[in-house]
Amino acid sequence: MQTAPILLLRTAADLRQTIKVWRSQGHRVGLVPTMGALHAGHLGLGALARRTCQKVVFSIFVNPAQFAPHEDFDRYPRTEAADLAALAQAEAADVVFAPAAAEMYPPGFSTSVSVAGPATGLESDARPHFFGGVATVVTKLLLQALPDTAVFGEKDYQQLMVIRKVVEDLAIPVEIIGAPTARDHDGLALSSRNAYLTAPQRQIAVALNRVLRSVIADVLNGVALPEAIARGRADLIAAGFDAVDYLQIRNSATLEQPLSPGQPLRVLAAARLGAVRLIDNMAVAPASLQEP
Ligand code: AMP
Repeated sequence: MQTAPILLLRTAADLRQTIKVWRSQGHRVGLVPTMGALHAGHLGLGALARRTCQKVVFSIFVNPAQFAPHEDFDRYPRTEAADLAALAQAEAADVVFAPAAAEMYPPGFSTSVSVAGPATGLESDARPHFFGGVATVVTKLLLQALPDTAVFGEKDYQQLMVIRKVVEDLAIPVEIIGAPTARDHDGLALSSRNAYLTAPQRQIAVALNRVLRSVIADVLNGVALPEAIARGRADLIAAGFDAVDYLQIRNSATLEQPLSPGQPLRVLAAARLGAVRLIDNMAVAPASLQEP
């Protein structure tokens, strides 16, 4: 089947010009920020954007500001040609905006967006630099594209909440849409970092989602939260994970520690298999207990 070519843009000026033309034609514009190495989860974000937008921009930018020096910035998978082909095949995007680092961070760049509230704890405990880097680059991407909507995955639930907060606090005129997590056949959340897993690690990795579901089952069955969490942590180690960075239950709207019964809850976890760090989260709700 003949698929429409994707327009690849490297500069914000070109992106703005393209979007200006679309707007003059009356189109709504959706933005899907990514770091590339695209998989079906990313393509699903594009499909969600397409529901309300006639034009969709994927940004592909491995953002140095959200990696600490010891993290995987250098070896993060960069697969631009395959990403463009996948987007064209799925008709998920009209434009890819893939700027060089110097386009996003020219010499002398001095600004950062710092977020408290939902950025507190969880990922920030292990990666204190992370949300500052994410919030700064996403704010810049939103201002460069000025889309009607921007789509982010629930896979990175804390990130989604942080971005909602930035957009609310800074009154950025964009609708943020959260997309459900796309999973492999056995429940493992799709992630570009799954490519780092060896075959034996991949077998262990499935336990992350399985354990989240068993924690949810415990909570729904009335097990106290600290007890359910302790069991979950032990189950992850027993399954073969080398370390559990966190396994926590938070208020799903604010990410605060739940202090009173009856509020919507989310269980969130990060665990390590060797040098590979995996994250996942689910709503504490009966629907999460269905088999993947
Ligand atoms: P990434 O480039 O993988 O850091 O993420 C780009 C966007 O894709 C973020 O909004 C992620 O939350 C989202 N994403 C990544 N993996 C998945 C997944 N398995 N399902 C849904 N969204 C995802």
